[in-house]
Amino acid sequence: MFKAAAFACEDATTPLHAFTINRRDPGPRDVEIEILFCGVCHSDLHTARGEWGNTMYPAVPGHEIVGRVNRVGSEVSAFKTGDTVGVGCIVDSCRACASCAEGLEQFCENGMTGTYNAPDTKMGEGAHTFGGYSSHVVVDDRYVLRIPASLDLAAAAPLLCAGITTYSPLRHWKAGPGKSVGIVGLGGLGHMGVKIAHAMGAHVTMITTSPDKAEDARKLGADAVIISKDAAQMAAASRSLDLIIDCVAADHDINAYLNLLKRDGALVQVGAPEKPLSVSAFSLIPGRRTFAGSMIGGIAETQEMLDFCAEHGIASDIEMIDMDEINEAYERMLKSDVRYRFVIDMATMPKVG
Ligand code: NAP
Ligand code: ZN
Ligand code: ZN
Repeated sequence: MFKAAAFACEDATTPLHAFTINRRDPGPRDVEIEILFCGVCHSDLHTARGEWGNTMYPAVPGHEIVGRVNRVGSEVSAFKTGDTVGVGCIVDSCRACASCAEGLEQFCENGMTGTYNAPDTKMGEGAHTFGGYSSHVVVDDRYVLRIPASLDLAAAAPLLCAGITTYSPLRHWKAGPGKSVGIVGLGGLGHMGVKIAHAMGAHVTMITTSPDKAEDARKLGADAVIISKDAAQMAAASRSLDLIIDCVAADHDINAYLNLLKRDGALVQVGAPEKPLSVSAFSLIPGRRTFAGSMIGGIAETQEMLDFCAEHGIASDIEMIDMDEINEAYERMLKSDVRYRFVIDMATMPKVG
């Protein structure tokens, strides 16, 4: 074991602060990574504040990790010291179930190991995983991603969660030329959704509560913008979309968005608000509509997404922060004031004391 610097919260109500954690020494199949950048996902905030009711404290969030390989175990051949690599939301899974066999580790039937807030059997009984708000992480090579050379490292970090979480349902529900895709919520996930759906060739409509984001939405690749608080705009867009990706982190009226779907359209929920969403049967029945969900993406698909982004010159629009600005960043995220992803510069992490 070795000591690593981190930022943690010890309960749901007190701020994150400097904290020292133990990391395992790399085993034969492990990659030890010095973390350079870590994106700030709204899931980090939900977890830190215990909003999903399952947080194990102390919690070290962060699952949009980009770093440099420090050392590798004796059986690792895919990575070597000095490589730039990524780690997303998954650091282990059973590798034997039907989902793992299909490369859908996020749906591992025996429970995938999340990068943070999951039981960490490799660290012993009762331990749980610590995420990327940290100087180092040690990850089995099967779950390590390659960052294409053309991508800016800091701007690539948010692809590891925000990128794959929007890419995967866009692919699964076949976004592309001739399809009209709506993205709800212009935050971290939403801005990646707009860029990726546009690059896939779909007609993209941004649906936002923030009129002052409309111009940005167009620059990011939206062909149309709907201000969701404007009832006339929502009514005019009724039954116009084939697919909607809902990236909203807070409580909202899902029926208003379902009404934007054409017959046989699908609304895919990726945003994970604390409170249940209430769907009226009559939002689904008359148009044979589908209300679905999607969770991040598998390891192979995450690599495919990174390569797709490199090919299309896509990365995140980021605002770099110092590690000790994380609590303020959370407050801004709650006000929908993020343009469009905070990324922590890990060079600002206090050293292990
Ligand atoms: P974020 O950056 O905070 O963006 C959320 C956006 O939602 C805001 O910027 C805002 O956009 C919109 N919004 C906020 N309150 C709203 C309201 N009351 N009604 C309508 N829209 C509202 O968050 P994020 O990091 O993109 O994450 C979004 C959600 O996805 C979180 O719940 C997160 O936990 C979840 N998530 C799920 C997965 C998965 O695998 N399914 C993966 C990652 C994250 P406008 O200003 O444009 O309205
Ligand atoms: Zn995330
Ligand atoms: Zn499995």
